[in-house]
Amino acid sequence: MRDFSYLRASSADAARQAAALPGAMLLAGGTTLIDLAKCGVAEPDMLVDITHLKGLDRIDVNERGATIGALAKMGHVADHADVKSRFPAISEALWQAASAQIRNMATIGGNLMQRTRCPYFRDPSNFSACNKRDPGSGCSAIGGVTRGHAVLGTSEACIAMYPGDLATALVAFDATVHLGERKLLVDDFFLLPGATPDREHAIEPGEMITAIEIPGSAAARRSTYLKIRDRQSYEFAAASAAVGIEFEADGRTIRDLRVALGGVATKPWRVRAVEDALKGKVLEPETVRAASLLAVEGAVDQGANHYKIELAPRVVARAILKLGETA
Ligand code: FAD
Ligand code: SF4
Repeated sequence: MRDFSYLRASSADAARQAAALPGAMLLAGGTTLIDLAKCGVAEPDMLVDITHLKGLDRIDVNERGATIGALAKMGHVADHADVKSRFPAISEALWQAASAQIRNMATIGGNLMQRTRCPYFRDPSNFSACNKRDPGSGCSAIGGVTRGHAVLGTSEACIAMYPGDLATALVAFDATVHLGERKLLVDDFFLLPGATPDREHAIEPGEMITAIEIPGSAAARRSTYLKIRDRQSYEFAAASAAVGIEFEADGRTIRDLRVALGGVATKPWRVRAVEDALKGKVLEPETVRAASLLAVEGAVDQGANHYKIELAPRVVARAILKLGETA
């Protein structure tokens, strides 16, 4: 690890100013950044510690929605009684992420900014070709070991999977990310790799995530996050789905549906095709299973990750049917 300087920011403005300097990076829980610095992917000249900034760890939930400060800890948000009751999918996504120790350190802002787990990206001493790390250098994954890579939203330059759980749930419920005064839909905050996979987020130098805001809705209240992975804890998703549903008064006809996929795409992946196919329909297993196949429209696999194309629709269907059982 290289030497770097350390600055404890005294205010959000001071943090933003310092973070705009070349080579400066914000430090929150450090659970991603320190890892990336150790393996030589992140090479900060200065760490700007924001962990002590006042007021950025607030969690406010009411009938209109939730506003969660960027410094709120993953564990606190997962365990917040109003988040659990009004946004079960958000709480469940956080509970199934990482480990208890990490959730107690890691923040919501840092979680959104986490980077891919592509093993080639994280091993610069053995794999020099990585367009995400070093634009124009190539992609070591294409033609390599791709079991964990994305099947949706990929490009010729990069097939890295977006690994986060929380953002998948946020995208399903039209959450926005606050960058101080500027607000962006979480869906627009995450960028497709295209020809520039090094640019993953629509955040500019000198900007900092200050909060996320999630509108309240009946679909968010009846929601769930289903995560399938190689082992039942401390593991990233092979495929996951955040689903929310609202029924008509008959309790069977779908009035509103939200579906987003994790673990299979280069960014959190909203699947409106499934939502549109099922809105207005009576919830029946066969109808749900047929519509869920639309979740992977346009998917491209690399062989070893083909299983994700079969798995993802099943995860979506299972999550929708699970919510139907509680109607
Ligand atoms: P930091 O490490 O402090 O920062 C991460 C990045 O965000 C840095 O680039 C930093 O500059 C930037 N940053 C931090 N705060 C802000 C801000 N407010 N505004 C702008 N930029 C900011 N995640 C999952 O979702 N699911 C999992 O299953 C999962 N498993 C994991 C397993 C392991 C072993 C580990 C180490 C991590 C895992 N994670 C998982 C990722 C984990 O959730 C993230 O490491 C964590 O959320 C990062 O938060 P942090 O506060 O520690 O961020
Ligand atoms: Fe790098 Fe993306 Fe290729 Fe992984 S998939 S080696 S992150 S360019």
